[in-house]
Amino acid sequence: MLDRHHVKALLALDDDLALDCAWVEAVDSDRSRMHARDAERMADAQRYLELIGDNETERRASTINNQEPSADGRSRHHGYQLCPVCGHQTLLVAGTDPFGMNVGHGTCLICSYHRTEEVAEADAEWMGIYSDDAPNTTLEA
Ligand SMILES: [Zn+2]
Repeated sequence: MLDRHHVKALLALDDDLALDCAWVEAVDSDRSRMHARDAERMADAQRYLELIGDNETERRASTINNQEPSADGRSRHHGYQLCPVCGHQTLLVAGTDPFGMNVGHGTCLICSYHRTEEVAEADAEWMGIYSDDAPNTTLEA
């Protein structure tokens, strides 16, 4: 049975770079919460999309696709990307991931889905690990 002394000893071991399992668990837990919040945002956007219906969705898509992102004072944005909820090129990008994978964070102008910086970074990291097209970010032995 574990007691406080055992936990303190494990945390002390965690300071060793080779044994940083507690840190990895904390990161995994944070990522799980981030993905759960993202799934909630996607579900909210899907409900909103169902509320406005197909005709309004298509009307908005055609209107938005005929506008430049710089119109209406949006010049600080980086164009549009594909929205993972509604499937239109209407996710207005406020910035992209730090890994150079061009995964944008921003808000969809049709369904209101908001992809956060953290989700964009996690998606880009995933792409970097599992995509053959990704820049080589692995360390050579
Ligand atoms: Zn959307």
